[in-house]
Amino acid sequence: VPTLEITGAVKRYANGHLAVKGVDLHADEGEFVVFVGPSGCGKSTLLRMIAGLESVTEGEVRLKGRVVNDVEPADRDIAMVFQNYALYPHMSVYDNLAYGLRNRKIPKPEIDRRVREAAEMLQIGEYLARKPGALSGGQRQRVAMGRCIVRDPAIFLFDEPLSNLDAKLRTQMRLEIRRLQRRLGVAAVYVTHDQVEAMTLADRIVVLNGGRVEQIGAPVEVYNAP
Ligand code: ADP
Ligand code: ADP
Repeated sequence: VPTLEITGAVKRYANGHLAVKGVDLHADEGEFVVFVGPSGCGKSTLLRMIAGLESVTEGEVRLKGRVVNDVEPADRDIAMVFQNYALYPHMSVYDNLAYGLRNRKIPKPEIDRRVREAAEMLQIGEYLARKPGALSGGQRQRVAMGRCIVRDPAIFLFDEPLSNLDAKLRTQMRLEIRRLQRRLGVAAVYVTHDQVEAMTLADRIVVLNGGRVEQIGAPVEVYNAP
């Protein structure tokens, strides 16, 4: 079964606005899927529906074959990276990485192993005792990714995670994300309005427009289309 499968997804917000108008798509195991399209086309809404941060008005969201429409975000097999990092400022890097696992009642030695392994992978092992305020933007971004890696999810969800970084760091972190995703073999859905990001990250690009899928294909198919 695909890691993610969305069928007939519709989102009508409380004010009546129809943001997603019947979307079908899937992400296979280890596949990197990127949502692109103009501002307001529904990229973020769709991602939040996968995360469980928005309810699904109609249709189904499945993770590894299981319908998760009514499953709380914390109980979904997902991990989401936000643009603003969403780190806890008063906690050390170590505690930021460990926090979600402690809530899940994972044994302490296992938490410690996962935290150190993720920190190693992200080259932030030296900063475990620091608070996020004492880190650079790139290091904070790494901590945010570390929090996702330690969850060991079936899929990573990225909502424009690099848009607050300068151009040089954006390029570096983009390569880093791709490298880690490949190494871990975890599927990813990534929202961006940046064509270069989409082309370099994606196995498959989903072009959204007005709440509908306009096109789906490999980067060369989408960007070389007549
Ligand atoms: P994108 O991520 O592609 O920029 P969004 O998914 O954020 O688009 O938004 C899709 C549409 O839904 C837009 O028209 C937006 O204004 C609208 N929208 C987003 N959030 C809400 C909300 N909470 N209530 C009503 N409309 C919303
Ligand atoms: P609206 O249509 O105004 O977005 P929703 O029914 O989508 O209203 O959601 C109401 C509130 O519940 C929102 O704050 C939303 O973030 C939250 N919510 C929706 N679905 C879930 C879910 N599966 N798990 C946790 N919170 C959710």
